[in-house]
This record gives sequence, C-alpha cells and structure tokens, in this order.
Amino acid sequence: MPHFLTFRFPSPLPVAGEEVPRASLRVYNFDPTVAPPGKTAMFVFLDSNYDYWKKLRDEDRDRYRKEKDRLASAVLDELERRFPGIKNKVEVTDVATPPTFERFTGNWKGAYEGWRITPQALTMRMAKTLPGLANFWMAGQWVEPGGGLAMVQVSGRHVLQLICHADGREFVATEA
Ligand SMILES: Cc1cc2nc3c(=O)[nH]c(=O)nc-3n(C[C@H](O)[C@H](O)[C@H](O)COP(=O)(O)OP(=O)(O)OC[C@H]3O[C@@H](n4cnc5c(N)ncnc54)[C@H](O)[C@@H]3O)c2cc1C
Repeated sequence: MPHFLTFRFPSPLPVAGEEVPRASLRVYNFDPTVAPPGKTAMFVFLDSNYDYWKKLRDEDRDRYRKEKDRLASAVLDELERRFPGIKNKVEVTDVATPPTFERFTGNWKGAYEGWRITPQALTMRMAKTLPGLANFWMAGQWVEPGGGLAMVQVSGRHVLQLICHADGREFVATEA
C-alpha cells in the first residue's frame, strides 16, 4: 500500500459542526525511527474548524476530550473497514486539534503551513523586510505561501541571498 493516500468516509463524518467527507492517511512504516521494531505510526488528518475546537477547549474541557475520543474511535472504525484487524493492534492514539497545533507551534489559529492555499494566496509575493525596520529579514512559512519544510528551506536560502545582495557580497552556496 502507498505511504500516503486520501480516502472518503462512507458517509461524511460530523466533526466540529461540519460534515467532513474525506481524510488523508500517512503510514510511517518506511521510517524505523518512529516506533520500536515491529510497530509503526499512522497519521490520519482531516480539515477542521478552529473556532469550534477553541471554544470547546476553553469552555468545556471534559466535552473537548470526549469529542476527541469520539473522533479517534470513528477514524479507527474507518481504518478497520479498510485494514481488517487493525483496531485491536492499536496501542496508542493521540488526537491533535487546531488549538493543539496553536499551543505547540504558536501559529495563528494552528495554521500548520501558514497561509491557506487559495488561488489568490498561491500567486502572492511577500516582502521579506518591513518598512522602517532596518536589518530585519523574515524567512519561513508566513512569507512563502504554501509553507511546508521544503518551502521554508528555500525561503531561508532566499533571505541569505537578499542579505548578501544588501551587503554587496557574493552569495555562495555549498553542498553539505
Ligand atoms: C503537525 C504538523 C505536521 C506537519 N507536517 C508537515 C509535512 O509533513 N511536510 C511539510 O513539508 N510540512 C509540514 N508541516 C509544516 C512545517 O512544519 C512548517 O511549514 C515549517 O516548520 C514552518 O517553518 P518556519 O521556519 O516558518 O516556522 P517554525 O518551524 O514554526 O519556526 C519558527 C521558530 O521561531 C521561534 N519563535 C517564535 N517566536 C519567537 C520569538 N518571539 N523569538 C524567538 N524565536 C521565536 C519558534 O520557537 C520556532 O522555533 C507540519 C506542521 C505541523 C504543525
């Protein structure tokens, strides 16, 4: 089976007051560092609504936890349908919501790759400097629509090129 796939629920899954039709699954069995021998990690992700989870977490922590448990159980049911027998083999589950991402990364509304991908965002060109703030440069997912690890590495390289240019120095890159 592929390490990454997207699947549809037989009927949309109610999550955070919305109907979620599909989810993506990543299987990490290519990476022996994520789990002890003979085991692996599977990562299912689906779109969800920040405001709903934030309000629930702030106002009713008990129901927030129960809702996460319900979701884990519904997703496991779907995995069981696709991979019979898997349910009994799961040792640990963890559900992260947008506020979880926000808590761990400090990102606005838990946006895990920066700007939402829209046709408009994809063509956005963002300055890496701020007017009136000398010697300030910004690299990373908030100045490179699309975000993600590959983009933010390119962003860091790009900012170094800009700094070299501003300093009148030649930009030289070496391969590690
Ligand atoms: C759960 C999750 C899964 C992901 N999966 C993938 C994936 O599979 N593939 C992929 O390509 N991308 C993935 N991403 C996205 C990717 O991790 C990010 O796009 C990328 O790490 C952003 O890099 P960055 O350098 O812009 O920001 P960050 O990696 O967030 O770095 C910002 C740094 O700034 C520090 N900082 C913040 N404020 C201050 C301050 N005031 N002073 C000093 N330091 C500060 C922070 O501590 C942090 O170290 C995932 C993200 C999440 C949350």
